[in-house]
Amino acid sequence: MKISPDTVVSVTYTLTLDNGAIADEADAQQPFLFIHGIGQTLPAFDDALSGLAAGDAFQFSLTADQAYGNPNADWLISIPRSVFSGEDVPADILHIGAILPMQDQNGNPMDGKVVEITDENVKMDFNHPLAGEALHFKGTVVEVRAASAEELDHGHVHGPGGHHH
Ligand SMILES: [Zn+2]
Repeated sequence: MKISPDTVVSVTYTLTLDNGAIADEADAQQPFLFIHGIGQTLPAFDDALSGLAAGDAFQFSLTADQAYGNPNADWLISIPRSVFSGEDVPADILHIGAILPMQDQNGNPMDGKVVEITDENVKMDFNHPLAGEALHFKGTVVEVRAASAEELDHGHVHGPGGHHH
């Protein structure tokens, strides 16, 4: 069976950045599982795997535009330092480079990275950690099967490595 929309795909991969750093990995013990063509992965990632079958190796690169876009200055946000001074907040969490779980105005969780600390404010970067990066994927297709009607209805994979209800 070939990878096409509405197949459940299992792959191992290594994701490398331009500087050679490994940003993510899925190995044979815990392959990456997704339903093809429903937006569970980057569209360009889905496209690059289309037509491959179990056992096929792959290697491809995505530009930043095809991946997480370029960093946007609008996502650098100054937050009053007092927000971080509650008694339930550990004193040592505030340091440059710290990734902290925050919320947007609507209460949705968002991770932000501390980039600047002044007496009054903490400047946080809410861009995707891989914004501005080209992504280089190398891996192997482990399994391809048709998604069940229930999986398509739920929008996620069931069974080993997937959701259990
Ligand atoms: Zn489900």
